[in-house]
Formats: sequence, structure tokens, C-alpha cells
Amino acid sequence: MMFLRSPGSSCRALLAGGICLVVSACGTTYELPDSGGVHSEEAARLFAEARRSPPPATLSRSAAEARFARVEPRVMRAGRETCQRLRTGVNCNVDIAIDRQMTERNAYFTYQNGQPVIRISLPLIQDTGSDDEVAFVLAHEYGHLIGRHVEKQQQQVLAGALIGGALAGLVGDSGDAVGLGLGVGATAGGIVYSQSYELESDTLGTRIAYDAGYDPVEGAKFFARSEAATGTSGGYSIWGTHPPDRRRVATVLATKAQIDGQVGLRNVR
Ligand SMILES: [Zn+2]
Repeated sequence: MMFLRSPGSSCRALLAGGICLVVSACGTTYELPDSGGVHSEEAARLFAEARRSPPPATLSRSAAEARFARVEPRVMRAGRETCQRLRTGVNCNVDIAIDRQMTERNAYFTYQNGQPVIRISLPLIQDTGSDDEVAFVLAHEYGHLIGRHVEKQQQQVLAGALIGGALAGLVGDSGDAVGLGLGVGATAGGIVYSQSYELESDTLGTRIAYDAGYDPVEGAKFFARSEAATGTSGGYSIWGTHPPDRRRVATVLATKAQIDGQVGLRNVR
């Protein structure tokens, strides 16, 4: 089921859910770890703690730039190695940079002229409490590349448009059904993926952040903070596209336990 948070979302979720029944592209590529039991309990504790804690002091722009400069090369190297080792078939050479136009606290993965890029805004970095948090955000976005989430979502949207168009032909209502399909996740930075894709990115991101020498559990605390879903100029913030969710923290904990137990990533059969 798609997880959509805009007006008319129930209709879109129903349509997208229907698409998922007929398009195999909706599933994850890699197995998600079992995030129940002790991981779920520990996630609840960490989540509550993150909610209670005061937000970290806002970094100056120069301190945020320095944090990005420290973290980016390490995450890029670890992400590329993971991407190449998994033989995903995607272009593993991602361009990671600060999006200086973006005033919201946001980060995203997209393609620009066929080149995979990860962008993060300076206001987001200024609000991080540690290098681990920036590393986890960037590593999570790298997970969207390795999971081929943009390609899969485009296939779903296309299938939705075809199904919507076919339905519209049957019921004689032209615009809405097609518009419904094509409207999903149209702009970079505002893409809302299905929850299973987010969890897959968390699984991959945990491994990449760890390989880059960071603490993924510390880093994931960033996502547990309570913040507005949109910024002051109306654009999505990272919490709009990545709703805080205990299951995400539990997935990070479960993946870390797999790493500690030397359990590797497994493809979904
Ligand atoms: Zn994501």
C-alpha cells in the first residue's frame, strides 16, 4: 500500500493499492529484518526519549558546511561499495551535495539528466545533533537508489495512468483518474514512497552508515524528532516525506543486530 499524505489521499491509496495488486514492482528487493519483539520495545523507548529531549542547538552555517564536508566522502565511498557489491545494475556514482536553494529541512534522492543525485539542505544539517545523523540521512537516501525506488514508483505511476485511463474510458470520466496517477510524487524532494520502500532504505542506510564508520542507531534518532511536515514556504520537510515512525527505528535496530551477528542482506525470493 502506498503511504500518501495529501488531500484525496484515501482515493489515491486505494488506486495505488489496486496497482500494487497487478504490478510486481511494488515489493522490496531485499528482505526486511524482523523488527518485532525486543527491537520494537527498544524502539519505543528510544522514540519516547527523542521526543522528550530538547532539540540540539542550531549549528552555524559554517559548522554545518564543515559537518557535511566531513561526512559526505565517507558515506559516498561506503554507499558506492555497497551498490557495486550488490550488482544492482544502477549507476552507483552518486553526486552528493548541498541543495542551496532549498529552505526546508529536507533531503532527497533523484535523477538529474540521468545522473543519480542526493541533495540535502543546509537548514537540515544545521538542525542535526551529530555527524551520525547527517550520515544516516545521506545513507538512507543512498538506499533509495540501491532499492530502485524511483524506477519502481515510475512504473507504478505509469501503470496507474494506464489503469486510470482505461477506467476513465469505461466510466466516461476523462481527467481525474489519469491525473490521480500522474500526480503521485511528481517533484524531487516531495516524493512520498511506500512504507516498505522507506523501511528498505532504512535497512540499506543502516548498513551504509555503519560501513562508513558511523553509529546508525544514533543517526536514526534524527527521524524520531517531532517536526512540521512542511516548511515555512509550504514545501515538504523531511518529516513530510518521512513521517516519524517507531517501526523505522525498530528496523534500524534489527538491521544493526543483523550486522553484529554477521547476517548479510538477502534478496527477496
Ligand atoms: Zn526515504
